[in-house]
Amino acid sequence: MSKAVLIVDDSEMVRNFHAYILKSAGFNVISAVDGADGLEKLYMNDIGLVLTDINMPNMDGYTLIEKIRSDEEFEDLPIIIISTEDEARDKQRGYDAGANLYIVKPTDPANLIENVRLLLEE
Ligand SMILES: [Mg+2]
Repeated sequence: MSKAVLIVDDSEMVRNFHAYILKSAGFNVISAVDGADGLEKLYMNDIGLVLTDINMPNMDGYTLIEKIRSDEEFEDLPIIIISTEDEARDKQRGYDAGANLYIVKPTDPANLIENVRLLLEE
């Protein structure tokens, strides 16, 4: 079984939409409802890429990424932020935390699949 994409988003609708897109493209998907849940599921599963929202209760996306990057095991794990926040400072904060890519919602399915595929195969 190939490594799964971990989808972290507090919106059930967005989680299901992204899961549908990625499953349709042949990826295995695991979903988490916030940063804390995402971090737990990262350690419990074989994850090849993290796709995370920013604004979430319990633990936001920036904190999640910082925690992932603070573990040597995950220093090369691809991380994509997908957020409604479109300001340059949000993107900068995301890249500073350690994200590989910042995508702005609404999600373009073909673009998401292409980027996930590229980062997973690097
Ligand atoms: Mg959110």
